[in-house]
Amino acid sequence: MIDEIVIAQALNGQVRIHAARSTKMVEEARVAHHLMPTSLAALGRVMTVTSVLASDLKKGDEKITSIINGHGPSGTILVQAKGNGDVRGFIGDPNLYMVREDGHLDVGGAVGTDGNLTVIKDLGLKEPFTGIVDLQSGEIGDDFTYYYAISEQTPSIVGVGVLVSPDGTTKAAGGLIFQLMPGASEQAIQACEKVAGTMKPVSTLIDEGHAVDEIIHMYFPDAQILEHRDIRWRCDCSRERFHDALMTLSEEDLHEMIEDGKGAEIVCQYCNTKYQFETADLEEILEQKHGVLHR
Ligand SMILES: [Zn+2]
Repeated sequence: MIDEIVIAQALNGQVRIHAARSTKMVEEARVAHHLMPTSLAALGRVMTVTSVLASDLKKGDEKITSIINGHGPSGTILVQAKGNGDVRGFIGDPNLYMVREDGHLDVGGAVGTDGNLTVIKDLGLKEPFTGIVDLQSGEIGDDFTYYYAISEQTPSIVGVGVLVSPDGTTKAAGGLIFQLMPGASEQAIQACEKVAGTMKPVSTLIDEGHAVDEIIHMYFPDAQILEHRDIRWRCDCSRERFHDALMTLSEEDLHEMIEDGKGAEIVCQYCNTKYQFETADLEEILEQKHGVLHR
């Protein structure tokens, strides 16, 4: 099953709903970054919510970047999602396996609460929009709930989860986010509170095999489905891009690397792909650079 986000509205347009199945992309992130369970759950949750935020963008290169740093052992978590559905990201420490007393993965303990969640919306305008809020619990769902309330002034419920199999792979991942539109009635508010109080973890529902539309209808029987959007793990890095980055080094630095004879290995921090440049490649880059400078 491919990953997707379903956008819907309910209660006569007073509630807007986004639901996501993100199992495949979270698993691909695990493989790319060799993530241990708690790191996997933390990054997977941020990936899922960020992909939901990006699903309101135009289907082009507009993008949302979420950055979380709670000064916990996880270090910085950074995720970028584009309007076209591409999602990529990383976590400072991929090797965390922290479990709470109740047996759940300790995402809050890994992330920490001494810091911020920053959301940058790049809509292709001169200046991106940036929203920064204090972290609440480091559990990610609570933190984005607070972000929606403060930065977007939209009261929201954010349910997001990643189920990890005993073998460490991603069993299921998903999210359900719903928000009250301006001027919502008391009845709509109560309906949302009721859903929030009875909601099962979305990852469990996805693991049970429920389709995304079905999950929405489970909680909002009158929901109208507005849109389906695909999401996927994809980084747009390339050898050419890193070649261009090497071109920006000084001639002295390039000389030094060539004399060193070890070549250069560049690792994309977003997707962990390694690009190897041999000494001969570096000599070619130096020559090109020389040509450009002294033409
Ligand atoms: Zn990459």
